[in-house]
Amino acid sequence: MYEMTEEYALKLDREDELRNFRDRFYLDEKTIYMDGNSLGLMSKDAEKTIHRMLEEWKTLGINGWMGGEPPWYFYAEQLGNKMGKLVGAEEDEVIIHSSTTVNLHIGLSMFYRPDDKRYKILMDELNFPSDHYAVKSHLAMRGIDPEDALVLVTSEDGKTLDENEIIENMKEDIALILLPGVLYRSGQLLDLERLTRAAHERGILVMYDLSHSAGAVKHELSKWDVDYAFWCGYKYLSNGPGGVAGLYLNKRHFQRKTGLAGWFGYQKDRQFDMVLNFNQAEGAGGLQIGTPHLLSMAPLEGSLNIYEEAGMDRLREKSLKATDYMIELIDAKLSQYGFVVGTPRDHQRRGGHVALEHEDAVRINEAMKERGIIPDFRYPNVIRMAPIPLYTSYHEIYRAIEIIEEIMVRQEYKKFNKTRSVVA
Ligand SMILES: *Cc1c(COP(=O)(O)O)cnc(C)c1O
Repeated sequence: MYEMTEEYALKLDREDELRNFRDRFYLDEKTIYMDGNSLGLMSKDAEKTIHRMLEEWKTLGINGWMGGEPPWYFYAEQLGNKMGKLVGAEEDEVIIHSSTTVNLHIGLSMFYRPDDKRYKILMDELNFPSDHYAVKSHLAMRGIDPEDALVLVTSEDGKTLDENEIIENMKEDIALILLPGVLYRSGQLLDLERLTRAAHERGILVMYDLSHSAGAVKHELSKWDVDYAFWCGYKYLSNGPGGVAGLYLNKRHFQRKTGLAGWFGYQKDRQFDMVLNFNQAEGAGGLQIGTPHLLSMAPLEGSLNIYEEAGMDRLREKSLKATDYMIELIDAKLSQYGFVVGTPRDHQRRGGHVALEHEDAVRINEAMKERGIIPDFRYPNVIRMAPIPLYTSYHEIYRAIEIIEEIMVRQEYKKFNKTRSVVA
């Protein structure tokens, strides 16, 4: 479908209606950044909103809580509503809060209410380890044996999950389901609408980790009637290292009590009454625990402005085109060197990154870095490459694959050590 020439890549860039967004980001023209799914690049818009927050701290001190523009006191709620539009949430269903793993703990504290009949949690064996640690710690804390109560859907090929099999595992003793929107390693996108419906038909609640799908694919959380969800801000959403995460609470559950209360979850207009009984705010804001991390939230505002301008439909369309293009280049130029694409080719099942698999991935990844590509290695054999529709050009995709081809032809990777580094 695509021509395999450099001229063609340049033509795709000229015809790309999102091409101007690239100028809004800080890119190092000497490198090809393929790691926006792990840490999104900084935009000028995000820089501006961080600087505004710093300036307000400098000039207003404590008065920024009400005198900031917008007031700091309402910032997490405001940003939450802005973020909510991107994931298909209604008013007050999203709050910007804490980190992904903490938001998972909050969800477990609210939605995991085991009884004699239903006490098991259904997960999958491919989800991010932190999610497994969190769930096991909840089970242990309640005196429930994880060996008995944690049911894991297995993967036949070690890369992807089968929705039919997930649904078959939705048995009568399952209380809660926790699944990723997009699998962090292979990039498989799960059909969350279908899974949610199947779970609800069986009286099971659902919770989704959208760390690799928020900002990459389109979600309709309210329409699908998802119970609870959470995601990273620093990946696709370019909220900066350690940037604050998001969480979604379906409005059907606004009366449900959090198991991890704190004073920033108090009804907003009465929080400073300082009474000793907790009155939870209505909405996702009621799940906040402590003082919002304003400095790590401010970049999200600028970043979300860009997302609003570009629109999730156009971003998804370009992301699919870019990953299609990358996969075709891999087939044409790299498959003869033992590379395999681990990401589903079907658009309905593909997230925003491509998993390039090779038995020598550790060393090839090192050689790529030496040649100025910034990839992302996942032990033992996956190199993740994410063309970000806001700032990755088709020409960069073309060049990245061409450089990998050169690395293989010249066997440049052979000089590197086979052991991996600590952060990988
Ligand atoms: C990145 C990621 C996390 C990270 O959690 P933090 O609390 O932000 O460190 C968790 N789950 C998934 C699926 C991820 O991809």
